[in-house]
Amino acid sequence: MKFDNKVALITGGTSGIGFAAAKQLAEGGAKVAIIGRDQNKGEHALSELRKIHSDVMYLSVDVTQSTEVKKMVADTIARFGKLDIAFNNAANDEVRSLPTHEFLEEDFDKLILVTLKGVWLCMKHEIEAMLRGTGGTIVNTSSVDALLCSAGTAVYAAGKSGVIALTKSIAQEYGSRGIRINSLCPGAIRTPLLERKFLHLTPDEVHAVEEKYNSFNALKRIGRPEEAASVATWLLSEESSYVTGQNIVVDGGIQVVG
Ligand code: NAP
Repeated sequence: MKFDNKVALITGGTSGIGFAAAKQLAEGGAKVAIIGRDQNKGEHALSELRKIHSDVMYLSVDVTQSTEVKKMVADTIARFGKLDIAFNNAANDEVRSLPTHEFLEEDFDKLILVTLKGVWLCMKHEIEAMLRGTGGTIVNTSSVDALLCSAGTAVYAAGKSGVIALTKSIAQEYGSRGIRINSLCPGAIRTPLLERKFLHLTPDEVHAVEEKYNSFNALKRIGRPEEAASVATWLLSEESSYVTGQNIVVDGGIQVVG
C-alpha cells in the first residue's frame, strides 16, 4: 500500500501488532513515529525500522498521561510537519487477573485508563492536529474479548467495548471534515502480550492453552502480528476511502453468538 508523503503515529508501535504496522507503513513510504514507554524496546524497534525508512522516530510516552499525549502529537508534527495517520494501539496486561469479587478497584482504574481513556486522549489531540491539516485516518485497537465477553475478562472487555463505541461515535462526528475512524478487533495474535500468558506454564500446559486458542477459530491457529497489522494498515490507507465507523474483526473466524 502507498503511503508516500504521509506522516503516521503508532502507539504501541515498539512491539507486536503495532510494530508490524509500523514496518508496513514505513515500507509504503510513510514517515513513522512509534510510541511506547520502554526506551530500550523503543530504540531496538527504531533500529529495525531504520533499515526500511530513514524518516522514523521513537517517542517515550505513556498514553494514560494527557500532557505526554499532547506532547506526543506536538513532537510528531515538530519533526515531520503534520499528522495524517494514527494507530491507537497501545495497551498492556499490568493488572492482576482475578475474579470480580477479588479484583482490585485500583486495577479497574489502571485497566480502563490504558484501554479506554488512553485511546480517547490520543484521538482528542490527533483530531485537533488533523483538523489543522487536510484530515486523516485513525484506527483504534479493540479486542475480540469485547464481543465474546468471556468469564474472567470483564474489565478488559468493558474497556475494549468502549473503544468500539468511541470509534463509532467519533467517526460520525468528524466524517464530514475528512477524518475516517475505524477499530481493529483482533483475536489471539502471537505477540509478546500473548506470550506472557505462557511464561509460568509448563510446556504441556502451553500446548493445552494453544490447542484451546486453536479450537476457537475456523482457521484453527493463532494469528501472526502482520495479519492483524495489514488490516489496520488497509484501514489507514486510501484503499479503504469509503469505510468509517466500522469495527473490523481479525480473529481467524471465531463464531460469536448473541
Ligand atoms: P505487545 O506486543 O505487548 O505491545 C504492546 C505495546 O503497547 C508495546 O509497544 C508497549 O510498549 C505499548 N504500551 C503498553 N502500555 C503503554 C502505555 N501506557 N503507554 C504507551 N505505550 C504502551 O501487545 P500486542 O499484542 O501487540 O497488543 C497491541 C494491541 O492489541 C493492544 O491494544 C491489545 O490489547 C490488543 N490485542 C491483542 C491481542 C493479542 O492476542 N495479542 C488480542 C486482542 C487485542 P511499552 O511496554 O514500552 O510501553
